[in-house]
Amino acid sequence: MRPTLLNPLFADVTALKGVGARLAALIEKAAGPQVIDVLFTRPHGLIDRSRRPKVAEAEIGSLATLEVTVDSHHPSPVVNRPYRVVCSDETGYLTLVFFNPRPDFLTRSLPVGARRIVSGRIDDFNGARQMAHPDHMVDPGSAEALPLFEPVYPLTAGLPASVMRKAAQGALAKAPELPEWQDASWLKKNEFQAWRAALAAVHNPGSTADLAPLAKAVQRLAYDELLANQLALALVRKARRKAAGRSFAPNGDLVARGVRALPFQLTGAQKDALREIMADLQAPERMVRLVQGDVGSGKTVVAFLAMLRVIENGAQAALLAPTEILARQHVETLGPLARECGVSLDILTGRDKGAARDRKLGAIAGGQTQIVIGTHALIQDDVAFADLGLVIIDEQHRFGVQQRASLAAKGARTDLIVMTATPIPRTLALTAYGDMDATAIREKPPGRKPVDTRALPVERIDDVVGAIGRLIARGDQAYWVCPLVEESEIVPMTAAEERFHHLHGLFGERAGLVHGRMAPAEKDAVMERFHSGALSLLIATTVIEVGVNAPNAVAMVIEHAERFGLAQLHQLRGRVGRGDKASTCILLYKGPLSETAAARLKILRETEDGFKIAEEDLRLRGAGDFLGAAQSGFPRLIFADYAVHGELLLAARDDAAMIVERDQKLETPRGEALRALLYLFRRDDAIRLLRAG
Ligand code: ADP
Ligand code: MG
Repeated sequence: MRPTLLNPLFADVTALKGVGARLAALIEKAAGPQVIDVLFTRPHGLIDRSRRPKVAEAEIGSLATLEVTVDSHHPSPVVNRPYRVVCSDETGYLTLVFFNPRPDFLTRSLPVGARRIVSGRIDDFNGARQMAHPDHMVDPGSAEALPLFEPVYPLTAGLPASVMRKAAQGALAKAPELPEWQDASWLKKNEFQAWRAALAAVHNPGSTADLAPLAKAVQRLAYDELLANQLALALVRKARRKAAGRSFAPNGDLVARGVRALPFQLTGAQKDALREIMADLQAPERMVRLVQGDVGSGKTVVAFLAMLRVIENGAQAALLAPTEILARQHVETLGPLARECGVSLDILTGRDKGAARDRKLGAIAGGQTQIVIGTHALIQDDVAFADLGLVIIDEQHRFGVQQRASLAAKGARTDLIVMTATPIPRTLALTAYGDMDATAIREKPPGRKPVDTRALPVERIDDVVGAIGRLIARGDQAYWVCPLVEESEIVPMTAAEERFHHLHGLFGERAGLVHGRMAPAEKDAVMERFHSGALSLLIATTVIEVGVNAPNAVAMVIEHAERFGLAQLHQLRGRVGRGDKASTCILLYKGPLSETAAARLKILRETEDGFKIAEEDLRLRGAGDFLGAAQSGFPRLIFADYAVHGELLLAARDDAAMIVERDQKLETPRGEALRALLYLFRRDDAIRLLRAG
């Protein structure tokens, strides 16, 4: 049950003074439906009314605060024309403009001859300065009535800034003093205020520095948020560990046969990963493990050997891929290995229909099929396993924490491995995958040649086309990637289609095109022709980003490389350099490059380490943009910033681990306080686990 102390915060925003149904709808849009949502809406800017420029200095378009004398009143001459009040100082005139003023209001508040401080936006009207509906008009004698610094909140159409500001103050007034959930010595060491004081500081900034991520008050709240997040994840993890799993001990020689069937030696990183996974499989708890590694680092092989351990014990394994193409590719690589080990393997996708599908389902339900590889079709209700022991999700960021949790819940005792080929920054990994154990495969299989990466201005495109021509002539393959652009209505053609026409004109049937608007079957057919070597040059939009393997592709040209994110460029580059030939990646850019775009291209030329690239990407973009580009799946944070608060996050993780260790039911006084923290950040789902356990 939610502590009653918190109830005022979880009331509807209509509980705030002056907020009726109409404003509530707007506030809900800008912040959220409850008081806490307003309380947890941060100002993103600050109006500084402490400066007092002269009229002639006040910049058009700026918010200015001026001291003027009221000269004359000019009531509306006709309906729909404004009431004007002309004011001045020794440098010039300022006209105050009011539409439909209340009778007498202006004569009372702006008597002719009086001095007034007025504050608002300065507009230009036929060369004269004017201010429509000033935010403030005060007598200099009572200037303390004028707030010198006012926070600016995110708004929505129709919601006046002043209303949102009042709502925030109202929410703050409803925020109770709460028992401290942070460790006292930690607060002292960091010079953090109490929770309520920190919120008050954030809503009453005295300078823009008070709004910055490193302001003490913001840091305190960021730490609260991160701790709530990490504690919830730690509780989920703890509860899952306690839930019965099953033990897959070594049982026979299937894994050994699998290793022998591989045409190569496992790398040290693969062996390390396998050791961790095999230990998890053998332990009686459920395994939930994240395996991170660049494309081509050899995750699939590791996953396959893990499946063999489960099959050794008479159970089945499933591998879930994000797309049909990837599912087929997995079948292509793992099928022969499975055959060699005498293990039956089948594929199930959305294309399987009717009797053929029924037959496949029968073999899965009967246990004759030991490994099932598939797409989302695998999750459907009528897919039943005889005994599913291990699920592997090849996910490329497709699933959020919640979805993953519900998927994992499908098989009560099923072990789970999530593989991701897009290394993500450590801070994000801890937040999005913090409920899992994590393994990183950082070493690449031996013999990989580094991809020669070059950045060239687009003016050199003819040289690049020439080089591609020579490469095709000697029997090699290449990709040519174009970014998505806004299509004009007159010419419904994408950049990729346009480039295809150009290159098709030069290379004829050796060139193919694949883009996101093609039907899946059509897309697959083109990919298949490239894969088989029928095509030498594949012109594409970023659809090829998602893990398609063509070992003979030795060149990757990326047009408008400056428009792509770092991680995306890295993913694209990962399509080449998979065979034993030397390969090249050409980043064609259109200058002049912005500073960050130049930095991105430089990092790519310097390293192929996806983990390093991910950290740099986050640093260069900042968390907001990074998350925007990263497709979803990552929890959005209110106070904390993935790019800035990494240290706080690590501390929160350790703190959470210690709390769960010492006070696993959150029963100590600190534990009680922490429960309130979980409610505040809406992680109370984790509290239910306490009761269940
Ligand atoms: P990932 O799933 O991480 O993208 P894969 O497991 O598909 O990587 O491996 C990429 C390629 O490298 C495959 O062709 C695979 O057979 C090969 N490979 C994997 N491990 C090794 C290794 N230890 N030595 C040599 N080649 C390997
Ligand atoms: Mg793979």
